[in-house]
Amino acid sequence: MASGDDFKRRLTILGSTGSIGTNTLDVVERLGGRDRFAIAALTGNGNIPLLAEQARRVGAELAVTADEHRYGELREALSGSGIDVAAGRSGLIEAAERDAGWVMAAIVGNAGLGPTLAAARRGADIALANKECLVSAGSLFIEAVSAGGGRLLPVDSEHNAIFQVLENDQRHAVERIVLTASGGPFRTSTLDEMRHVTADTARAHPNWSMGLKISIDSASMFNKALEMIEARHLFRLKPDQIEVIVHPQSVIHSMVGYTDGSVLAQLGCPDMRTAIGYALSYPERCRLPVERLDFARLARLDFEAPDEVRFPALRLARRAMEEGGVQGAVLNGAKETALEAFIKGRVGFLAMAEIVERVMDALAGLPAAANMDDVFAADEKARRAAAEMIR
Ligand code: NAD
Ligand code: MG
Repeated sequence: MASGDDFKRRLTILGSTGSIGTNTLDVVERLGGRDRFAIAALTGNGNIPLLAEQARRVGAELAVTADEHRYGELREALSGSGIDVAAGRSGLIEAAERDAGWVMAAIVGNAGLGPTLAAARRGADIALANKECLVSAGSLFIEAVSAGGGRLLPVDSEHNAIFQVLENDQRHAVERIVLTASGGPFRTSTLDEMRHVTADTARAHPNWSMGLKISIDSASMFNKALEMIEARHLFRLKPDQIEVIVHPQSVIHSMVGYTDGSVLAQLGCPDMRTAIGYALSYPERCRLPVERLDFARLARLDFEAPDEVRFPALRLARRAMEEGGVQGAVLNGAKETALEAFIKGRVGFLAMAEIVERVMDALAGLPAAANMDDVFAADEKARRAAAEMIR
């Protein structure tokens, strides 16, 4: 390592080729790039050209594709660069275990849990975009981070907002948190219209530009359901302290209500780089060229109560929180299976929530997870039960 590198912060980005991953690299480059940061590892999946281009551009030490079959292609694309190459689950763990003080967890879905845990256990600060870690593993994940000694820095915009306005020495005075939801592309659609939507219409989010799966989860409000469970664990709240309000402009990213009636909110243009930059600079604030809010042009902010008939995901999240145990892992595993079937056109849009609810019924009463193996087992059971129903 060159002596100048001793002063650089070492980062790893799990899921660098995705929407959060590319935004993270953009923030890293705007905050000084290779002059200030050394990239220990980048990981992707199918998009080998992008992964190789990123790794060369930032001078990553290791590049990993989750897809074992693409190992040769990645090695070829990086030949002569001196960048180490790995693939598959073991490669992802190798990336997570490389010495880096800050790790962005931006792999989509439960696939992110293993690598994120590996980074947490060795004491890295975890910038957490992958909400599934908390939904599935809950307090076990939090315990793994604190046992490792790193910090958990929420990147999901709502949780990042709460993290920004939660007065840590006044936690006892927190009455509730209010998660804002855009309402997605079907906010004003009827149930009958929603029955016939396809993945192409469901992926078009009105305010945020995101990966395919989270965009569809936003349309069904399963994204908000996951975020309720995520918030519960992150901020150690009771289920009835978590409210959801539909706020179509996505300007207020979430709020904390205190016992004196005060409500503190974090506002900004919908751009994930603000949350990513906060997690990277915490506890300092950095300078980012994101669009500034123009209140006069904005003129108004709207709110409406969520409709749990058209969006049963919210009700299912409450149920999972109240039942506890491994129902978070069950909800998420069933949801991911139903979502994949919806993307392939095998089940309808509304069927996703029906499948999740039936799997939760079937697996209700599973004992709480004593360790991570129990979490993975519950996830697997839920996937199998959901796949069975879809068949
Ligand atoms: P994305 O689909 O754009 O990117 C996902 C990344 O994970 C890619 O790098 C992809 O190569 C990788 N990946 C996909 N399947 C994988 C597998 N099986 N194993 C290992 N890697 C795999 O997703 P995204 O929108 O960037 O979201 C990433 C995570 O961040 C999700 O958990 C999402 O819920 C969360 N999140 C995203 C946003 C957003 O604005 N995009 C906001 C809040 C939270
Ligand atoms: Mg969010």
